[in-house]
Amino acid sequence: MASGRRSGALPSTAATVDTTPRCRPGRRRFRLAVHPPPWDRIARPMTERVVIPIAEHRYDAALPHVPESPQSPVGRLLDARGRRLHDLRISVTDRCNFRCTYCMPKSVFDKDYAFLPQSSLLSFEEIERLVRAFVAHGVEKVRLTGGEPLLRRNVERLVEMLAAIRCASGEPLDLTLTTNGSLLARKARALRDAGLRRLTVSLDALDDATFRAMNDVDFPVADVLDGIEAAAAAGFASVKVNMVVKRGVNDGQIVPMAAHFRGTGHIVRFIEFMDVGASNGWAMDDVLPSREVIERIHVAFPLEQAEPNYTGEVAERWRYRDSGGEVGVISSVTQPFCGDCSRARLSTEGRLYTCLFAGAGHDLRGLVRGDTDDARLAGAIAHLWSQRTDRYSEIRSSRTEGLRKIEMSYIGG
Ligand code: SF4
Repeated sequence: MASGRRSGALPSTAATVDTTPRCRPGRRRFRLAVHPPPWDRIARPMTERVVIPIAEHRYDAALPHVPESPQSPVGRLLDARGRRLHDLRISVTDRCNFRCTYCMPKSVFDKDYAFLPQSSLLSFEEIERLVRAFVAHGVEKVRLTGGEPLLRRNVERLVEMLAAIRCASGEPLDLTLTTNGSLLARKARALRDAGLRRLTVSLDALDDATFRAMNDVDFPVADVLDGIEAAAAAGFASVKVNMVVKRGVNDGQIVPMAAHFRGTGHIVRFIEFMDVGASNGWAMDDVLPSREVIERIHVAFPLEQAEPNYTGEVAERWRYRDSGGEVGVISSVTQPFCGDCSRARLSTEGRLYTCLFAGAGHDLRGLVRGDTDDARLAGAIAHLWSQRTDRYSEIRSSRTEGLRKIEMSYIGG
């Protein structure tokens, strides 16, 4: 067995996964994590899981501290653990037309659920101003999310505004968007024309019955596949296809998904089912470790590990040995990557969250709609980020189980 492999047996494949180190030193690989997977700490019988009612915590974010004499941004901002602010994810709506059981279960997000009123949402101009402030601090990548971002009226206008922003290097932002694909066939061309260069589509199964059950609104998978085709025709050559893998629900779709997108240029990324928010009834039993995902694909289509594209890349890359493209795995549960997490999140109504699992945000909208000038706004962001210590996935355990966490549908994934 090659050194560097995580604990456990070699995959039961005709050809074994080559784990000879190719990545640059210090990169994540499949090996025993510094923080071992917390199976024994939080595994709980399926029959005992509980869905915790959501606390209404969208309106209680505090105004951030605004320094009296803020330093001018220097294009690089480190948090208390030395992690650079590089990515900004922006939720443009808290609404979605799906009710995926792991994200917006119908039992919570029913007809009586109070979504944010239009007046609460950040306007496109407010979003643009905030993005410029973040870019001054070194943000180079912006992802639009939701809810379902294509439900936000004229979202392509926002894309156009953000596509015009330049980083300190003079380069455009790395601007991308995550969608459930339901409206993509209609919107792909407009998004491309507005300046969007990359696209991620969430797709949890190819089997129509499984997909309809998971989105829980009986939405057909064929329409999402049409959307991906439309995106490719509009010029999105390599769409990322994100599949959340839930053991016993859609893990039978792993190999079919890999097979379907092999050779197309699109990249499927398999995401471990996470305990985001309080409404998805998460339990460790539901998590299929990424290592098993890779092993299953490898049996059908031999794989080898590829180097990360950049420091802090969330997905670990694996390429097909026969040049059929690549897949990725995102292992937030079994291989936490907090150590180089460079992501900040902006909610639909302008709360800043410094972790996907945060319980409280910071009211940047209050500053934007107040009399705070750009220098002081940038100073407030610098103060917030410099105090950041988040590392939820590294400390996930029975002690974190009952913590109040923001819902993924509110903050984006
Ligand atoms: S748990 Fe929080 S700090 Fe860790 S990788 Fe996820 S978002 Fe980043």
